[in-house]
Amino acid sequence: MSGSALYETFARAPLAFDRGEGTWLVTDKGERYLDFAGGIAVNSLGHSHPHLVAALTGQAAKLWHVSNLYEIPEQRRLGERLVDATFADKVFFTNSGAEALECAIKSARRYQFVKGHPERFRIITFEGAFHGRTLATIAAGGQYKYLEGFGPKVEGFDQVAFDDIDAAEKAITPETAAILIEPVQGEGGIRPVPTQSLKRLRQLCDRHGLLLIFDEVQCGIGRTGKLFAHEWAGVTPDLMAIAKGIGGGFPMGACLATDEAAGVHGTTFGGNPLAMAVGNAVLDVVLADGFLEDVQRKALLLKQGLAAVGDEFPEVIEGIRGTGLMLGLKCAMPNAKVNMALRDQHLLAVPAGDNVIRLLPPLTVTDEEIGEALKRIRSGAKGLTDAIAAEAAK
Ligand code: PLP
Repeated sequence: MSGSALYETFARAPLAFDRGEGTWLVTDKGERYLDFAGGIAVNSLGHSHPHLVAALTGQAAKLWHVSNLYEIPEQRRLGERLVDATFADKVFFTNSGAEALECAIKSARRYQFVKGHPERFRIITFEGAFHGRTLATIAAGGQYKYLEGFGPKVEGFDQVAFDDIDAAEKAITPETAAILIEPVQGEGGIRPVPTQSLKRLRQLCDRHGLLLIFDEVQCGIGRTGKLFAHEWAGVTPDLMAIAKGIGGGFPMGACLATDEAAGVHGTTFGGNPLAMAVGNAVLDVVLADGFLEDVQRKALLLKQGLAAVGDEFPEVIEGIRGTGLMLGLKCAMPNAKVNMALRDQHLLAVPAGDNVIRLLPPLTVTDEEIGEALKRIRSGAKGLTDAIAAEAAK
């Protein structure tokens, strides 16, 4: 056996955390880190949120799993709440984002099949997209680094440039079933799709009998200051994949659909009582009066602070992008270097495509923690700027 017993899938930081408290993670050595990585946009309510802990432990003492052969009242309730809060009429629960996307892709193909168009199976996607790591979702994402060595690529995905709606229109053929897009690209580098573009995509879908699928796995559940990012654009999809934040750290996802678009699918674990208890608890908090407005207020505070740091250290930070508490530092030097400098300041962030560092604090982050993060980002950026100056002076 070489090295670790685990697949060498991630470039892991040499850090092991023992516990979490709100926005903080504490290592096995007792060192405290400010967590603006949030388990890659998963810990929507931070660590050890008392309401989530109570929901999970309360359910764990009662019932873990029964399968979808039986009624699961908490699943029904979470489904109804998601329907009430969104465009959707139906919900299918999964264990992950990729599975939610698989459900959406299958639903779109099935919709066309039922409509008498089995030939319509292709889906248009956008460069820089990330939709998961199953065979279909790596084909949908279209990124070589995830596809290499896993051929043949699953048939039926046509990719066009990011935010090129004219190209999307040109890519529509008699075989097209749907258009799939993240309203805010996450892995692709925190790139919000302009409102106008989402509106045009909706029109294109309506005109050509296609389904519009949103992937809100990363940008959903309050991350942008609305329950779902597409609400800012006033455009609704026919299908939507969610995951990450809805479980607040418990693995779960869902595919939301209109009545017409809802397909057929199945799962052993999806929608199990543990996940449903947590999902309902997350919604209790996120849908409480004033919660999302406060996320918007805090997001502005963070973005303004980041803009000031960016202005001060242009050799490190080229610009700030993103929306809500889904913000990106476009780096003027390799983002891995910036990420290391932030980690040295005990601030956790996540690198993304397009040389960006993602900041994804919990929605429960406090003003003081935002201030502390800004202080640490400034120190990290100053250290990097000083190092450049020292190198130049040699
Ligand atoms: N879609 C988006 C936008 C994501 O960011 C991710 C994960 O990062 C996925 C899908 C896949 O989710 P999962 O890793 O839970 O399968």
